[in-house]
Amino acid sequence: SIVEVADAPEDLVSRAPIVTVMGHVDHGKTSLLDYIRKENVIGGESGGITQHIGAYGVTLENGQRMAFLDTPGHEAFTAMRARGAQVTDIAIIVVAADDDIMPQTKEAISHAQAAGVPIVFAINKVDKPTANPEKIKDGLAQMNLLVEDWGGKIQSQDISAKTGLGIKELLEKVLLEAELLELTANPNKMASGTVVEAFLDKGRGYVSTVLVQAGTLKIGDYVLAGTCSGKIKAMQDERGNLLKEVGPSRPISILGLDGAPQAGDKFNVLEDEREARLIATKRSQLLREQSVRTQRH
Ligand code: GDP
Repeated sequence: SIVEVADAPEDLVSRAPIVTVMGHVDHGKTSLLDYIRKENVIGGESGGITQHIGAYGVTLENGQRMAFLDTPGHEAFTAMRARGAQVTDIAIIVVAADDDIMPQTKEAISHAQAAGVPIVFAINKVDKPTANPEKIKDGLAQMNLLVEDWGGKIQSQDISAKTGLGIKELLEKVLLEAELLELTANPNKMASGTVVEAFLDKGRGYVSTVLVQAGTLKIGDYVLAGTCSGKIKAMQDERGNLLKEVGPSRPISILGLDGAPQAGDKFNVLEDEREARLIATKRSQLLREQSVRTQRH
């Protein structure tokens, strides 16, 4: 069964922050995520990011790590939250400096606030002649969101996702914010975490990207994820490396589940393969019964 035991303080070690990028359409979320992914030369890591697995990890020059959910937009964030998943530690909210604070910017802000997730503003497209970052900061101030250069506490950074200007500084500010959160996890137990995405691959079968949030995930572990279960046959990171063990705050693709769980489903490792299968079957049954009931009413 799934047992949650309180961690002993001596088992807790610091872990990397998990970051989500949100903001209004066309303000540059994808461009920012792409830039960070490509420039992962940042920490001189050998081998670039070759696989799109829905999340990726980067190492900064100072050796600190951070993980990005590679699904821009708050749809993913809200879908996960709707399933009770809390995977984000910090939200970067991208606002284009040649535009206004738009409806989806406001939505992203309220989503982050509702989840109690600190915000770092990335004021983007400052390479454009029409960019006016001060106007954006003024707009934020009018929403009672005072950024640091305006005497407030919220971090913001002028960036260009096109030229890369300010992105290093942005990531440093995210790390500073992360330090205040004192994020920790216990790697010395069976893994648990959240599903980021899953699909059926023609050659490999079901591939699920999961984010390990506690414990260490290992080859051969019996996993229960939503209505799916299975024994882990292989694990691959965003650089295509095959791994045997994965600790907290690391996104990883796993092979071996008997289906595709949904984004936001929790996953757990169980001692017993049969028990994992039993719970998964029970959950599918419950879901089927529920949908039959809603169809009748
Ligand atoms: P998303 O919808 O928020 O993911 O926005 P995209 O990343 O797709 O960007 C929307 C458009 O703005 C694209 O044409 C990008 O090339 C452009 N864009 C994004 N960031 C910048 C930037 O910093 N400077 C300039 N000049 N254009 C940008």
